[in-house]
Amino acid sequence: MIMASTEIGRFTVRRPRPDQIPVVDVPPAGHFVDGSFVQGSSPEVIDVLDPTTEEVLGSVPAGTIEDVDSAVEAAVEAQRSWGCTTPQERSEVLSRIADIVEANREALAVLESANTGKPRSIAEDDVSNTIDTFRFMAGAGRTMTSLAGGDYARGHTSVILREPVGVVGVITPWNYPLLMAAWKIAPILAAGNSVVLKPSEQTPLSILKLAELIAGHIPDGIVNVVTGLGGTVGQRLAEHPDIALVAVTGSVPSGRAVAETASRSVKRVHLELGGKAPVVVFADADLAAAAAGVRNAGFFNAGQDCGSACRVLVHESVAEEFTQLLVREVGSLVVGAPAAGDDVEIGPMVSRPHFERVRNSLAEATAAGLHAAIGGAVLDGPGYFIEPTVFSAVPAGAPITQQEIFGPVVTVESFSTTDEAVARANETPYGLSASVWTRDASLSLSVPKRLDFGTVWVNSHLVFACEVPWGGFKGSGYGRDLSLYALDDFSRTKHVMINHSA
Ligand code: NAD
Repeated sequence: MIMASTEIGRFTVRRPRPDQIPVVDVPPAGHFVDGSFVQGSSPEVIDVLDPTTEEVLGSVPAGTIEDVDSAVEAAVEAQRSWGCTTPQERSEVLSRIADIVEANREALAVLESANTGKPRSIAEDDVSNTIDTFRFMAGAGRTMTSLAGGDYARGHTSVILREPVGVVGVITPWNYPLLMAAWKIAPILAAGNSVVLKPSEQTPLSILKLAELIAGHIPDGIVNVVTGLGGTVGQRLAEHPDIALVAVTGSVPSGRAVAETASRSVKRVHLELGGKAPVVVFADADLAAAAAGVRNAGFFNAGQDCGSACRVLVHESVAEEFTQLLVREVGSLVVGAPAAGDDVEIGPMVSRPHFERVRNSLAEATAAGLHAAIGGAVLDGPGYFIEPTVFSAVPAGAPITQQEIFGPVVTVESFSTTDEAVARANETPYGLSASVWTRDASLSLSVPKRLDFGTVWVNSHLVFACEVPWGGFKGSGYGRDLSLYALDDFSRTKHVMINHSA
């Protein structure tokens, strides 16, 4: 058993000196419609906070149904000509967006850090991945394929077309505000659609900044941003008759609400929802590498990641050794505000309500008798900081192993047989991602094939590339981001059959 007493409470929040705090270049406070910023139809605004200080960074309009309707009108009009452009013309526009993001890399990373509290290194990574997403889709949009045309019925030639779907409504979360928007906007535009995007009400600033930067450099109306709440703006996107498809990255309840609304107009739905990734560590694994992998992938972005390596299942023969290694790794994490230094790795929870949710999960686990081998408490404010936490020797079926916590909290359970490991890993309503740690060639293929998750890493976790798809099974939703599969998801297939026998 790993003892907690010497470890708990050892984390502190590193704060920046006044001279370390960067100037944040906030975007205009308006909706971005048809190529320019417009006032909302309601005077109501939503304050946007810095989660490390709880101070207001700016405010954005609380969008209304009328605001969504005007953005959709602009998107419908713009899509008529955008949908007729060639892949090469669309590629040029996407490459231009990538160049603009690259030229403004620093401002975007500073803004993203300020609004989410995430370390600068992660915000910089997000900006780099945003650039790569636009560059990848600029090329990929020129390579779309379908079934070969041919004479499949006597006297008839078939041609298969991939067409844009039209206007796509997009709803994004707060954990990677710019990158999650890019994962949608890039393939949606590459496939010839226009977009109306609603960012999270907590983190709308980076996408509004991107809109400000690209205004005048891309055709007006193909990208529109309406800020506001999910229940109004998101709901209207899901029900609007001129939106052909609605894509959501967010929690399961939000995805379900959108899918239910969209079903009334038989609208297509693309869902990237929550996760609870199991990390299955076999007895033969490189335990030090697995512990370092969980340090990185379980605590990246303070665990506010749908693919977070948050639930370890380790073989009972190595459980104690692995837990010791993991606790040592986690003990070296640096918690703080982004401006406090380049070595800060763990930022705050994004908001007060989310902080309270994670705090409650910790309290419930402690009340259930679970043992925090390290961490387990919240840290002093201002800001929404929580100690990096590892619960060890967690019993099978404990609620904390099933619910998405979305914070810097990892649980460690043990198993005795491979069948048990697979069954318990699959025993979750989610099916987004998982990892397997082993040096056995047979296990490295046979176990991933039995796991019910859209991505399974072997001896790795949370590694992405634009060429390969990302998306879940079961409660984690359906639809794929990135890769050629995203282009398929944001286009439609038409069969034209020509009778030439007459
Ligand atoms: P959330 O569901 O609270 O909010 C996501 C978005 O949905 C926000 O823009 C919100 O305003 C909107 N929304 C909320 N209710 C709505 C409704 N009834 N109708 C329409 N829109 C509505 O999620 P969050 O807290 O911002 O993000 C965290 C969640 O996102 C986690 O569950 C996480 O796992 C998930 N996530 C998934 C992926 C993935 O790729 N699968 C990536 C990032 C985040």
